Amino acid sequence: MYWEKELEQLDRRALERLQLQRLQATLAQAAKSRYYAGIADIGRVLRAPFTTIEAISELPFTGKEDLRASFPWGFLAVEQRDVVRLHSSSGTTGNPTVVYHNRHDLASWANLMARSMFAAGVRDTDVFQNICGYGLFTGGLGFQYGAEKLGCLSIPAGAGNSLRQIKLMRDFGTSVVHAIPSYLGRLAEVFAEEGLDPRRATNLHTLIIGAEPHTEEQRRRIEAMFAVKAYNSFGLSEMNGPGVAFECTEQNGLHVWEDAYVVEIIDPVSLCPVADGEIGELVMTTLDRQAMPVVRYRTRDLTRMLPGPCACGRTHRRIDRISGRSDDMFIIKGCNVFPMQIEGVLLKLPEVGDDYRIELTTIDDQDEMVIAVEVKAEWFRGDLAFLDRLQRQITRLIRDELLVRPLIKLVEPGSLPKSEGKAVRVYDRRSK
Ligand code: ADP
Ligand code: ZN
Repeated sequence: MYWEKELEQLDRRALERLQLQRLQATLAQAAKSRYYAGIADIGRVLRAPFTTIEAISELPFTGKEDLRASFPWGFLAVEQRDVVRLHSSSGTTGNPTVVYHNRHDLASWANLMARSMFAAGVRDTDVFQNICGYGLFTGGLGFQYGAEKLGCLSIPAGAGNSLRQIKLMRDFGTSVVHAIPSYLGRLAEVFAEEGLDPRRATNLHTLIIGAEPHTEEQRRRIEAMFAVKAYNSFGLSEMNGPGVAFECTEQNGLHVWEDAYVVEIIDPVSLCPVADGEIGELVMTTLDRQAMPVVRYRTRDLTRMLPGPCACGRTHRRIDRISGRSDDMFIIKGCNVFPMQIEGVLLKLPEVGDDYRIELTTIDDQDEMVIAVEVKAEWFRGDLAFLDRLQRQITRLIRDELLVRPLIKLVEPGSLPKSEGKAVRVYDRRSK
């Protein structure tokens, strides 16, 4: 059992009181760092403390650029000798940043991870195989310590080597796997190459998928591939890593652990809070971190708060799955496009395989969006007239969604190069 029932079902007023109290402590701690010591507003709040949690909106934001500019020690709020581990973000969007933890921080993170996994139905009787990179990437050690705290038999398998993953799953009766969604299509293919049916060849009942944006369509496909339930796990290194927001077994949005984070959704242009339920940028503040408190961090991830209580009984509010990050958005022919909009259209079609690439290029002085779409083997062998119809159908569906006409290239399954780690799906090769 790993359920902090009382804390997870705290009524809103009590939860906000707890947040307020932890926020004051966090600000006092943050003020010990070189970076926050230089921010006058924090000193002001410390002299005249907030009385409501909403007042957090008076504090300045912290951006990725601030973390970079203060690299490596500017955010350190404890003695360096008390730091016991550091992680670094994978640098998807530029230079890496660093996050350091003391013992308290690591214990608190492991606790959040155990609670997250429990909420998704994982129990101490499960065999948990963690198929992702260990090392600086937080998905490895984050899940590892969570699974141990929960009491699972854990297999720190690491990323890649699908044949070995399958052998481990079958040898030890793995019942829960954590992996990034873009890897699972590949894993299912390797099962098939070995003459195994991924729906029957293992004891698997739960997948935990996260670390990269994916659509509901992709989740449903992954569930069908393995005949299991798949739960969405969200996190970012700056807020520890996984264990920030997690789906419970209701599969209806991700509970943000509000005893550990303050969550805000802002309009990325006006920087004001959006109306309840509207999509905006997720902004987060740590409430239980000592070595590196972070105040109002602009995640660049886009989501919205979901209304109403959750049937699981947890009172911590839920966010919708991430629809993209603001820096994923590209503009083509004057239209703003998020890759997830394209994925949403493609994966609804049964003929479409599991991968696609979006290339922005210049043809005859015109910017074009070329989308290479994998077609499933059974359809790819179909007649040319069929493929021609499919190509036209995809072109039309995407044009209707984005108001931009794409050039669609149908390709054989498995022919698109796979990236190590998180999937890279957009390549901008336009001549500027
Ligand atoms: P990097 O920013 O270099 O990728 P991280 O490994 O810290 O470094 O990645 C965190 C980011 O990954 C988040 O800000 C978000 O964009 C993305 N992410 C993590 N989990 C999810 C998820 N479940 N759904 C969508 N995006 C996710
Ligand atoms: Zn719930």
